[in-house]
Amino acid sequence: MIKAKPKPLDEILSYIGPYEDILIAGCGGCVSVCLAGGQKEVNILKSELDFALRDARETKQISGYTVERQCNAAYLGEIDAYAEKADCMLSMACGAGAQLLAERYPQTPVFPAVNTIAIGVDRDIGLYEERCRACGECVLAYTAGICPVTRCAKGLFNGPCGGTQGDRCEISPEVPCAWHEIFERLKAQNRLEDILRIHKPMEWRNQIQRKFVQKGYENRYLQED
Ligand code: SF4
Ligand code: SF4
Repeated sequence: MIKAKPKPLDEILSYIGPYEDILIAGCGGCVSVCLAGGQKEVNILKSELDFALRDARETKQISGYTVERQCNAAYLGEIDAYAEKADCMLSMACGAGAQLLAERYPQTPVFPAVNTIAIGVDRDIGLYEERCRACGECVLAYTAGICPVTRCAKGLFNGPCGGTQGDRCEISPEVPCAWHEIFERLKAQNRLEDILRIHKPMEWRNQIQRKFVQKGYENRYLQED
């Protein structure tokens, strides 16, 4: 799931400076699971802002509302009545949710209240690790389920660089070499031939905004020329 972290309070305060009526929009999806932007975090942010504003002898009207998923327009209708009254909104969803919110209410400034960090896994409560950067060309089939984009410091697709120190990455003795792990796991699975496959380097600079239609919905969205 997508992982996010709350932004520092001072940064959020700097966004809302000129506005009086502020709506905090939470998301009940990924960001609530990683304890960054669900209903509970909306309430906490509202209290923190109320306290900070009181200390600064400022008065603002702050309210909060959490939708099921901010990245789906079907849920945003619930906010319409609150959004109408707001001078600005603080989105506690990931960058995608915040953008959909901003698209729906183009007259109202929408500010992010969290930093979207990663697509990752839950290691423990409040402990997450990045596992995917949505590169669009998944190679996990050949890398024993270990992502070379996120786990290799250089994002290499075709084996380790020359700097590997045993099973460690050259950037730090604390960091395991992803390609060493890929080798060991492929070996354990008797699939070492997969490491010899050559993959074209990823053309990151050519990446454009991706849009896709799931198979099964092609008739609905794709027009034939
Ligand atoms: S808006 Fe972002 S955080 Fe919320 S459900 Fe959608 S993808 Fe997950
Ligand atoms: S290769 Fe890595 S970054 Fe790319 S889609 Fe697969 S897991 Fe995600």
